[in-house]
Amino acid sequence: MDYEAVIGLEVHVQVKSRSKMFCGCKNEFGAPPNTHTCPVCLGMPGVLPVPNEEAIRKTILAGLLLGCDITRTSKFDRKSYFYPDMPKNYQISQYDLPLCVGGGVELRKFAFPKDVQKEPQAEARKTVRLVRIHLEEDVAKSTHFEAASGIDFNRAGTPLMEIVSEADLRTPEEAFAYLTTLQQVMIHGGISDADMEKGQLRCDVNVSVRPKGSEKFGTKIEIKNLNSISGVRRALIFEIARQIELVSKGVELHQETRRWDDPAGETYLMRTKESASDYRYFPDPDLMPLQISDEQIEAIKAGMAELPSQREDRFMREMGLTDYDASVLAAERDRATFFEAAAQGAANCKTVANLIINDLLSAVGAAGVTLAEAKVSPEGIRELAGLLDSGKINSKQGKEVFAEMLATGKKAAEVVAEKGLEQISDPARLEAIAREAVAADPKSAEAYRGGKTGAINKLKGMAMKISGGKANPQAMGEMLEKVLAS
Ligand SMILES: [Zn+2]
Repeated sequence: MDYEAVIGLEVHVQVKSRSKMFCGCKNEFGAPPNTHTCPVCLGMPGVLPVPNEEAIRKTILAGLLLGCDITRTSKFDRKSYFYPDMPKNYQISQYDLPLCVGGGVELRKFAFPKDVQKEPQAEARKTVRLVRIHLEEDVAKSTHFEAASGIDFNRAGTPLMEIVSEADLRTPEEAFAYLTTLQQVMIHGGISDADMEKGQLRCDVNVSVRPKGSEKFGTKIEIKNLNSISGVRRALIFEIARQIELVSKGVELHQETRRWDDPAGETYLMRTKESASDYRYFPDPDLMPLQISDEQIEAIKAGMAELPSQREDRFMREMGLTDYDASVLAAERDRATFFEAAAQGAANCKTVANLIINDLLSAVGAAGVTLAEAKVSPEGIRELAGLLDSGKINSKQGKEVFAEMLATGKKAAEVVAEKGLEQISDPARLEAIAREAVAADPKSAEAYRGGKTGAINKLKGMAMKISGGKANPQAMGEMLEKVLAS
């Protein structure tokens, strides 16, 4: 029998804000342990929480970017459970009135892992529906040493957004694309740095299997706390195969929570799952319900940046870029901004895109610097693209000019003049070079005239060499044909 997986993701995103969710402590990653704490985030009795407006605004922004409906009356609830890194014994979260409901994430080709980008699943442009986005407080961070454990309360009470998807995903690769896209949107909107290594984006996975064509869901198993996008893919590949093997043997699965051991490459049982009633949710009596007005939503919308996917479409539509080039340039905000500045008024946006993708991005990547730190400006790229498009220099010379610009910060025209790189396009000079090449290799000339048209390539190579690499290659080829025909 053929089986398919049904996957839903719960993604926790740390919201970028100056202070914590319900107190004035700094929200900062990497400070010495327990230096950003106060009675509120340490859970002392009798303290009063005050909600963070910036975190609420950013959660609404995330909802708007993902096409959610914004709830006009929202509230915070207490989710009760005992956990050593949460001294209140409850977490302030949202239960039945989250800030955002509905919405969706469109999965695009280049968000998929590279090895499946040619498969139909990457071409399908499927939209994964969202259930909700709610805002809560994060718990403290435990670190387990050899003989003891330590708790850092710097993270306790920092704003945390939870994005819950419908069980619309069917493959580990779709989960990969979903997370990649979500991460892009969070970074792009300035909502979170969404760095999984720093725990700023964490993912729980719900996965079950069922016979293909069946409408009924199988037994849902949760895998907790995955901390890399490729790890999510690996965990799902393992877990789906594990479940299919058991189910096809007739073993009955039970709802449970498992952990992924990345080095070992397997999941293991953590606990059997609680249900919502175990948490005894109730409205937090210390926090008033939130009233969100149309004006507030409009103000957030007005400051909203274009989504990477929208930019990608615009780059293809207005600038004639290929889907691949557009996706590379739109993937990061500073990259897209750099490209747009360079393409402004350029004769051919495609040349500008090529220079950025093939030369600039690899150069800054290798040097470990940002685009803003590179010595080549958007105007510099546009100028260089202009020299290439007009045929003043050829592509080989372009590489040389680019390398010099990057090393010295000089202008393209300046480098061309200094190095005497100007391409030879003058017919009289080209003809002289062509005649010299023919004279140097009469055998190839004879072969060409005798019908072996391929022999012209040797002569072209010779002519380019004679010109010191400066001849316009296309014009040189045409001139050679003319000289050989005469
Ligand atoms: Zn505090």
